[in-house]
Amino acid sequence: TRTPVNVTVTGAAGQIGYALLFRIASGQLLGPDVPVALRLLEIPQGLKAAEGTAMELDDCAFPLLRGIDISDDPNVAFEGANVALLVGARPRTKGMERGDLLEANGGIFKPQGKAINDHAADDIKVLVVGNPANTNALIAQAAAPDVPAERFTAMTRLDHNRALSQLAKKTGVQVSEIKKLTIWGNHSATQYPDVFHAEVAGKNAAEVVNDEQWLADTFIPTVAKRGAAIIEARGASSAASAANAAIDHVHTWVNGTDTGDWTSAGVVSDGSYGVPEGLISSFPVTAKDGRFEIVQGLDINEFSRTRIDTSVQELEEEREAVRGLGLI
Ligand code: NDP
Repeated sequence: TRTPVNVTVTGAAGQIGYALLFRIASGQLLGPDVPVALRLLEIPQGLKAAEGTAMELDDCAFPLLRGIDISDDPNVAFEGANVALLVGARPRTKGMERGDLLEANGGIFKPQGKAINDHAADDIKVLVVGNPANTNALIAQAAAPDVPAERFTAMTRLDHNRALSQLAKKTGVQVSEIKKLTIWGNHSATQYPDVFHAEVAGKNAAEVVNDEQWLADTFIPTVAKRGAAIIEARGASSAASAANAAIDHVHTWVNGTDTGDWTSAGVVSDGSYGVPEGLISSFPVTAKDGRFEIVQGLDINEFSRTRIDTSVQELEEEREAVRGLGLI
């Protein structure tokens, strides 16, 4: 029998954690024949709820689930971790300045990065979901100098999936007929969903849509502000769709992208497309043999250029801010 893959989930007792853990344990993260052992990290106040979730996981009798450990110590929770899903984060509360938010999250992601550095398995893959995800990933990465930088990624797959769904509705096709969509930049309101290289049933998406005003005034803001629209409608933030996107991100990272397609992920920039080296920015990426690669050589038109630059500028400002706080 195969050795189980150790999957650490932080913020395990939160909303996203609740939507995520059962799917991981059922085999949807890594594949239907890969046994998993779960490591749940929570803050002390979250431990009891995490224990309750663990009881429910037991009660599912998942054949692939080979153990559940719960801890409030990152050094324990990341021991031997092969995959780490960093979901728990400090949410922005009323009156909180960006600097305060970054500082509070630095207090979470810096020690977690160090614990990953010191205790995780050599093949560790990290996905940061907790916001501000790109910059939290940067903080964790900086605290883990012994882990290859590209193992730290940030989630923009939910934005990608939202864009797929909106574009499918607009053009009247199934989502499976849309390829090569891209989310660029920060997982924030400045993100840029780009259809100019996308294909709808084999045709160029921008030509099929043929309506720049719809792109600028409807599509982009709908995708970028979808989180707020869901809070407004549901009275709670998008948890199941965020968990779904986390599953998609890791599944793609491990199992690869289809030939002739790509996806979007926040990965460390090598300077491609004018994104300063070292920033964790969303790009079009393919995945193969457990590695993401930035798709090269795309022409960026004026419409896209200004929008990518705006979002990347915001990432640079966040990097400067956490540098100023001594977090990286
Ligand atoms: P959620 O599970 O709803 O959200 C967790 C994080 O994911 C937040 O940063 C949130 O960002 C982000 N997120 C939410 N929705 C989306 C989305 N649609 N796309 C991308 N990211 C999204 O929060 P809960 O408050 O229910 O749970 C958080 C848990 O984490 C709590 O149980 C808490 O105790 C725990 N925690 C654990 C820590 C640790 O393990 N060390 C540290 C801090 C917290 P946003 O704020 O922007 O919504």
